[in-house]
Amino acid sequence: MDFEAVIGLEVHAQLLTKSKIFCTCSTEFGAAPNSHVCPVCCGMPGTLPVLNKRVVDFAIKLALATNARINPVSVFARKNYFYPDLPKGYQISQYELPLAEGGYIEIEVNGSKKKIGLVRIHMEEDAGKLIHDETRPVSYVDLNRTGVPLLEIVSEPDMRSPEEAVAYLKKLRSILRYLEICDGNMEEGSLRCDANISVRPKGSDTFGTKVELKNMNSFKHVQKALEYEIKRQIALILDGKEVVQETRLFDVSRGITQSMRGKEEAHDYRYFPDPDLVPIEITESWIEEIAETLPELPDAKKERFIKEYNLPEYDAEIITSSRKLAEFYEACVKAFPKPKLVSNWIMTEVLRELNKEGKEIDETALTPENFVKLLKLLDEGVISSPVAKKIFPEVYKGADPQKIVEEKGLKQESDEAALEAICQKILEANPKEVEKYRQGKKNVIGFFVGQVMRETKGKANPKVVNQILTRLLEQ
Ligand code: ADP
Ligand code: ZN
Ligand code: MG
Repeated sequence: MDFEAVIGLEVHAQLLTKSKIFCTCSTEFGAAPNSHVCPVCCGMPGTLPVLNKRVVDFAIKLALATNARINPVSVFARKNYFYPDLPKGYQISQYELPLAEGGYIEIEVNGSKKKIGLVRIHMEEDAGKLIHDETRPVSYVDLNRTGVPLLEIVSEPDMRSPEEAVAYLKKLRSILRYLEICDGNMEEGSLRCDANISVRPKGSDTFGTKVELKNMNSFKHVQKALEYEIKRQIALILDGKEVVQETRLFDVSRGITQSMRGKEEAHDYRYFPDPDLVPIEITESWIEEIAETLPELPDAKKERFIKEYNLPEYDAEIITSSRKLAEFYEACVKAFPKPKLVSNWIMTEVLRELNKEGKEIDETALTPENFVKLLKLLDEGVISSPVAKKIFPEVYKGADPQKIVEEKGLKQESDEAALEAICQKILEANPKEVEKYRQGKKNVIGFFVGQVMRETKGKANPKVVNQILTRLLEQ
């Protein structure tokens, strides 16, 4: 029997507001434990929450960017549960009337586009953090995170593979970053993903029993956990057993999922509208005001890059996946209108360095000015491609390529007479290879070019070397 997976994601995005959602405490990450707390976020009796308007602004932004319907009236609700990191004994969230419903995010996997529907986008407060002492049977609670604003984005069960789930998550993160409402850092927990997954026989039109997966703090973990869970569920069914509806944790070191607890139902939380907060009315003019602040979004930017710069879809996809990288690219192309050359270099040398350090382009010392200077030196034949690649790491660290080339004497050797002498020498030193060439193994020329490059420390103009070698060998 052939099976297919059905996946729906619940994503929590921590918002980049300066203060918390219902009080004026700072949201800053990494402060001393319990230094960003007040009676409101500590849940003291008699205190009252006051909504931070910026949170609603940010939520409207995301709703607009995902084509969701914004409810003219939405309501905060209390989600009741007991846990030591939740001082009030309930979390303020939204339930029956969320901020927005519907909408979609478009993804592309293996060249085919697909819209993943959204169920809802709602606002809520984060809980605190428990810190467990490794050496003693003691746990501490840090309430700095209590009341930090979150958006929860719930998708329809529209994804059919781990690849689609990861593509959705990446696109959602890209949109959040473009909007500058969440930094998208999964390791630090500012973007968290719970994945719901079930399997069913291919062609079936009913869903199987789903399992909720938690504790995945990278794209790789999401992929791995889903792959594991698909295999586990299929094996159960083929064995005549049933999938149990439950919450499972991904064990990173073992690459498996393990049962954590039975799944709660909505009625376990005894939701009811929060009597301390008035319903939120969102007017058309408020929405219009926010709409005017929306930047060009990743999909639109990608389409424009393909048209305007004639970039292949693949290049455009990668370069527009980050707003900062796309802006860097455009600044370069403006100063040096060779879009494909700029793109090639960004996709290889630049991204290699960025990935190595896990940085965004604006967190580095690489400037469009220096980068364009380097590409011009290459394009005008002043330096060879191997030299350009060799000095790139220094340029990346902020050095002026022109200066490096002058100080180190790296200008390309294009002087025919000088190069011919070196070619001659290389041919004389390798008579066997010359023989091979003359017997028809023309690709030996690559070997000779390599030798000349070595001899000149990469400074020889490869085009000129090729011409000279061909002439000498064909004599
Ligand atoms: P619950 O009431 O159990 O929380 P919801 O209907 O609210 O379930 O859905 C929660 C998430 O689970 C959504 O992202 C939804 O797309 C996904 N989901 C729902 N049913 C399934 C299923 N059978 N298989 C996989 N995912 C599902
Ligand atoms: Zn507070
Ligand atoms: Mg639910």
